[in-house]
Amino acid sequence: MILQNWWFTTLLGIDSPLQAPLTKDIKADIVIVGAGVAGLAAAYYFRNKGLQVVILEKNICGGSSSGKSAGFLTPDSELELSQLIRRFGPTGAKDLWNVPLKGIEIMKTAVQEHQIQCDFQVQDSLFLGIGKSGWQDIQEEMESRKLLEFDQILYDAVSVQKIIGTNAYSGAVRYKNTYGIDALLYCQGMKKVLMKNGIDIYEASEVLSIKDHTVTTHLGSVTAEQIIFCADKLQSKLSHFADNIYHAQTFLSISEPLNEQMVKSIFPEDRFQCWDSTLVYSYFRLTGDNRILLGGGDMMTTFSKNDINSARVINKVIHQFKNKFPQLKDLNFIQFWPGRIDTTRDLLPTIVREDANPHVHFVLGCVGLPWATFCGNFVARHAHGDGSLDDGHYYEYFRPDRKFFLPLWLEKIVGKKIEFSANNGWAKYYQKDVKRDKQTKILIEKRKSYVEN
Ligand SMILES: Cc1cc2nc3c(=O)[nH]c(=O)nc-3n(C[C@H](O)[C@H](O)[C@H](O)COP(=O)(O)OP(=O)(O)OC[C@H]3O[C@@H](n4cnc5c(N)ncnc54)[C@H](O)[C@@H]3O)c2cc1C
Repeated sequence: MILQNWWFTTLLGIDSPLQAPLTKDIKADIVIVGAGVAGLAAAYYFRNKGLQVVILEKNICGGSSSGKSAGFLTPDSELELSQLIRRFGPTGAKDLWNVPLKGIEIMKTAVQEHQIQCDFQVQDSLFLGIGKSGWQDIQEEMESRKLLEFDQILYDAVSVQKIIGTNAYSGAVRYKNTYGIDALLYCQGMKKVLMKNGIDIYEASEVLSIKDHTVTTHLGSVTAEQIIFCADKLQSKLSHFADNIYHAQTFLSISEPLNEQMVKSIFPEDRFQCWDSTLVYSYFRLTGDNRILLGGGDMMTTFSKNDINSARVINKVIHQFKNKFPQLKDLNFIQFWPGRIDTTRDLLPTIVREDANPHVHFVLGCVGLPWATFCGNFVARHAHGDGSLDDGHYYEYFRPDRKFFLPLWLEKIVGKKIEFSANNGWAKYYQKDVKRDKQTKILIEKRKSYVEN
């Protein structure tokens, strides 16, 4: 198994993946910094508005988190619905769940409309429970989905074995309208669509500084009416909001292709995208050419400052996976790669537009491709001042100074790891909707009753 991002391998099949860097000083209406799915979604919104739009990307389009990701397009990236209901009540939870739902819709529509070749797969989501507590998590998610009137199917330990070839799981909840994607090819495909629509894209162009309306790279600069930052691993020299961002490390691996018989032995009926109920969960799905994409991590490396380039963690994930699916014991995993996901202390994105600098916008800490896509689109719409907007309230949910368990200044004393873990644990397990509306209470009572039984 070699250390190499599989999606970069898939780039070998496309023409000219690299756009030349910016080498002059130019003017534009809008400059977008960072071309992951967020920056590209922002640019996509502007494509037919008659504005001069420039994208500056330090690597290649999709070259960071987006192009390393497992490409699960599901609303359920880290933030389970039951947690959102406890934190924000049913109305707030629905409001927030609509964010990734809209993000998925934007990506799906773009893929279909422009026929972007990115291994787009229709794959129902399967959230799999492990053990007794996992079964409780599954039921909790099920009740939450019912409460908000979403469709889903519940499987217990026996019925789940009809759809997944192992007895390792205590149950599952399944839902539709989720997809698998090669997000690097998606970003490269979006690059072509945007360029065709007159948007200028400069790759290998890292923004080093921002002053008033001008962002500067090594070899040039852009002066623009509006500046939209969708950059990851933001440096504090660019903004003090970089302090609000943390990173969670996960590892991915890809197998050699499976034959049809092996595929059927794992997915007898349908090909799902799956993840389990453990704290540092593992996740897997099939690519279009029948390779298993398998990911996971461990507590020791989740918060590492740098990428861990050894195969130790992923080997453990593969070993556990093969224990669950002994029919795959001889399957080879050929490539692996690490990635650090930008996140905030409570896993919700942060969007900044300060009164003092209303022309500068920041999209930060989006956990999940759909969340990032929505946020890029959202910020672009609001930067443009689209008159028909009725979703300005998302600025409130995502404001940088929203309530956290521990304030940021304490980080200087307790350190980044504790600051993140305490805030994250509070958001995940304890934060409560202050209004505690009636439906939340009913849900909590229900939860108590099946925990007691
Ligand atoms: C290993 C891994 C697996 C994941 N799996 C999934 C998954 O299955 N499903 C899912 O929904 N999410 C997944 N995620 C999370 C998801 O990838 C991210 O949440 C999402 O890609 C964030 O998109 P973004 O556009 O905000 O950031 P990014 O994709 O990181 O884009 C930011 C861009 O900004 C550029 N940049 C940074 N600094 C500068 C600068 N100074 N100047 C110019 N450009 C700059 C970077 O090069 C980068 O291209 C995964 C992430 C990782 C790392």
